[in-house]
Amino acid sequence: TPKNYDVVVVGSGGAGLAAAIQAHDEGARVLIVEKMPTFGGNTIKASAGMNAAETRFQRVKGIEDSKELFYQETLKGGQNRNNPELLRCFVEHAPQAIEWLANRGIMLNDITTTGGMSIDRTHRPKDGSAVGGYLISGLVRNVTRRGIDVMLDTSVEEILCEHGKVSAVRLINDENETLTVAVKSVIVATGGFSANSEMVVKYRPDLAGFVTTNHKGATGGGIALLQHIGADTVDMGEIQIHPTVEQNTSYLISESIRGGGAILVNQKGNRFFNEMETRDKVSAQIIALPEHYAYIVFDEHVRAKNKAADEYIARGFVTSASSPRQLAEKLGMDYHAFLATLERYNGFVEQQHDSDFGRTTALRNPINEGPFHAIRIAPGVHHTMGGVTINTETAVLNKQQQVIPGAFAAGEVAGGIHGSNRIGGNAVADIIIFGSLAGHHAANWAKAQA
Ligand code: ADP
Repeated sequence: TPKNYDVVVVGSGGAGLAAAIQAHDEGARVLIVEKMPTFGGNTIKASAGMNAAETRFQRVKGIEDSKELFYQETLKGGQNRNNPELLRCFVEHAPQAIEWLANRGIMLNDITTTGGMSIDRTHRPKDGSAVGGYLISGLVRNVTRRGIDVMLDTSVEEILCEHGKVSAVRLINDENETLTVAVKSVIVATGGFSANSEMVVKYRPDLAGFVTTNHKGATGGGIALLQHIGADTVDMGEIQIHPTVEQNTSYLISESIRGGGAILVNQKGNRFFNEMETRDKVSAQIIALPEHYAYIVFDEHVRAKNKAADEYIARGFVTSASSPRQLAEKLGMDYHAFLATLERYNGFVEQQHDSDFGRTTALRNPINEGPFHAIRIAPGVHHTMGGVTINTETAVLNKQQQVIPGAFAAGEVAGGIHGSNRIGGNAVADIIIFGSLAGHHAANWAKAQA
């Protein structure tokens, strides 16, 4: 490995890989450093898809959408706490980011929806497989093809500055060997801190004892790295709990199951809320149930269209039965109540109007095709909306809101885009949009230093 690079990318999730590819394509010499033994970070676990409005794939399907509506719905979902400039940049670049991927052989041309969005704008792989694995394998293929240098099992321990500019990074590998690499710029793409329960509870004491859906590398180390060189942070207490997590394994049950037509019922066999509300609201309703859990219920129609469902069956999460009555009995639920719930919901689908809870999206099909399926779920810590402060050029800002020269950040490590609640499908959009922007700006910065 050479001892100097134009751009060092810290982290190999979606943001880091997109940044590395873009910086390379603009002529920079790039090194990716990943502390875990494998690529992909938390991105590899992403399930729903990538949100974007006014895309080619929406047009093909005749879906009418607008960037403005996407902006407004994301802002509403984030309770108006989103940084407006970052959000505007996000929405504007989203369709280009879908094309950026397509140009690199990563096609997200199947479209569904997630909670808080009124239009189908969540782009997924066509075969119904989860977005994360598909995305990471496609990005890694692009990294490999370009011969970009990668160090796995290696952590960035410190970013060094000289004359107020980023000048080097100090690395340590799994054999405790340290190495200092001279750099012109660094892109920190280290993800969030959902798997660092101490840090989560420090900002949110109410989240003590919650499981997390995240991989164990999501410890927030990148935030500390940047704070050490003066970075400011924003929204650190804004931590998302995802409503549908299998509690024995901390495995996330994708929002795309509800997006495909599933409902949520409580132990009494009743629906209790609009399943397609935003994650914060659905989670709060489940926590407020006396049993603090719920069941996600779907039929064969939904299963057949979503590969994730088969995975949940293989993992033993799913209780299945040939009839609704038998399913209720297996779940220890009053079957009269459960049958009445299904009948009433199926009526709502027929009328395309939910007079109980006002669900307006994904009223797709009546739940009437056996076998019938249920997964017991409860909320888990899922995403940290806060992080280091960046501008729309992904430059890291200090406490005076001035750029720290040579320091860039993208993805979950950066705060401000999602406000107080991230919409499903907006994290994958975030990492590709801001990851590729970071690659562009870091490469430009490096050129200017030459
Ligand atoms: P994003 O979705 O923002 O791209 P991910 O969680 O997918 O974030 O990826 C972040 C990656 O960064 C993870 O693979 C994680 O192991 C890695 N990482 C975190 N801290 C460091 C560090 N100090 N040095 C190297 N890699 C790191």
